[in-house]
Amino acid sequence: MRRAALLGVLMAVGAIGIRAQQAPPAGQAAQPQVATIEKLKDNLFVIKGGGGNTAAFVTSSGVVIVDTKLANWGQQIMDKIRSVTDKPVTTIINTHTHGDHTGSNEFFPASVEVVAQENTKANMQKMDAFKGDKAQFLPDKTFKDRMTLFSGADQIDLYYFGAGHTNGDSVVVFKALRVAHIGDLFARKGTPLIDVNNGGSGVAYPNTVKKAAKTVKGVDQVITGHSDVFPWSAVAEYADFNQAFLDATRTSIKAGKTADETIAAFKMPDRFKDYNMSGVKDNVTKIYAELKK
Ligand SMILES: [Zn+2]
Repeated sequence: MRRAALLGVLMAVGAIGIRAQQAPPAGQAAQPQVATIEKLKDNLFVIKGGGGNTAAFVTSSGVVIVDTKLANWGQQIMDKIRSVTDKPVTTIINTHTHGDHTGSNEFFPASVEVVAQENTKANMQKMDAFKGDKAQFLPDKTFKDRMTLFSGADQIDLYYFGAGHTNGDSVVVFKALRVAHIGDLFARKGTPLIDVNNGGSGVAYPNTVKKAAKTVKGVDQVITGHSDVFPWSAVAEYADFNQAFLDATRTSIKAGKTADETIAAFKMPDRFKDYNMSGVKDNVTKIYAELKK
């Protein structure tokens, strides 16, 4: 095959591969097609690729994983875990309902305990991926506002601070390691996806992130839903970003501008110039609708 033709075939195959996945939220970089693992602490790893970032926390009794990526990524998650430990996976924590964070729950044995915020369980129950026989992969244990799992070096604190990306976003804190996984409440430095069908709220978003930044103490680093690991201070900055976004939208509404006029003239403070703003249209539209209710 001529080189140009081969390249065309490879590109077509790549395009199909990407299309088969759930469309990435606005502003999300193309995901690698092979999982990668990064060591954050001696017993905490971040597995990237195939949807949301997965954390693997190796405790004294087994491996706790936070988020299970898209469907059909379970083996890759497991292979990466096996490259660092022989311990069994005992627990899955789903930060929220989306299929790029819960998609490979079904890869793991039903004996693995699945944990999520109670609204997230209710949202998952509405998904075809968890109906019928697959209901066994739904959360076994839920919490409302706060819950602690395990103790000592293994302690994990789970928090829920209100609506944001969905109405069931957990912040997962590995206490002894001073690291949190925040899921898609902070997916990346950019406009968030506001999933109103699963209870997400652009109006509540800034306060929810602010509460997380203020309430959670003793954390140095945050694993984001889809991007890098940042210093915990990035969460407070992200709350400010969402507040500025809401303020700009509200100011426009007060000035009598339509949603389209607001989108066309949308401007954020300079300090957020590096943030990805690809969700302006979507989020202004959603905030307008929410404030009109
Ligand atoms: Zn999500």
